[in-house]
Amino acid sequence: MRQAVLSDIHSNLEALERCLAHARTQGVERYVCLGDVVGYGADPAAVAERLFVLPGLLLVRGNHDEALLRDVDEALWPGVAESLAWTRAQLSAAELERLASAPYLCREGTATFVHASAHRPEAWEYIWSPEQARACMQAAGTPLTFIGHVHVPMVFYETPGGALRALSPPPGVAIPLSPRARYVINVGSVGQPRDGISAASYVIYDDNAGEVTFHRVAYDHASAAAKIRAAGLDPFFAERLAYGR
Ligand code: ZN
Repeated sequence: MRQAVLSDIHSNLEALERCLAHARTQGVERYVCLGDVVGYGADPAAVAERLFVLPGLLLVRGNHDEALLRDVDEALWPGVAESLAWTRAQLSAAELERLASAPYLCREGTATFVHASAHRPEAWEYIWSPEQARACMQAAGTPLTFIGHVHVPMVFYETPGGALRALSPPPGVAIPLSPRARYVINVGSVGQPRDGISAASYVIYDDNAGEVTFHRVAYDHASAAAKIRAAGLDPFFAERLAYGR
């Protein structure tokens, strides 16, 4: 089955819609969302509406989704706290409940899906190094782990000798998955990429073919940014969309 794995949509409707349109042309049958559905962006309700009806949706919880459900955390950056308070007021009770009930982690067959790391998912660790990826792999206990949170597409893989390596995946090129290796696959961010490329990032996982393909999808980031400014949210959340930072 061909599954689209999306993460860190961050209330960016323009980016989500372009990714969904692209996924439909790729024969995607089922959708996974690795959390951070909301936060930063100006379209939380429209994003929730589109997302929650996707075929077979599997949703895990992100740190922004979780923060919605608590009193505003004073440790948060003021712009983020403000965006979460604003977001909470935009969503229905049913939408908040759907985000609140998402699990930290989900295992299905040979794959684990989690927002930050399978190792202590509730700690929201940012996986940048092979050592962190190894801890994630071991905690997951499956050959494949799909993550988000860092907003940068990355693949960590284990060599036959047991060493762990990282690679920057080229978009549009299928990466074959060896049945003898383990992988941690960061799918990047739909709604706020941070690798210097403004285009939305997502992955198609084909479990029959045993491969993953990263995709970059250009979208109208100027419209998404204009809505953030119009909503009175931190203008930095608007500016960064153009630079992918
Ligand atoms: Zn995020």
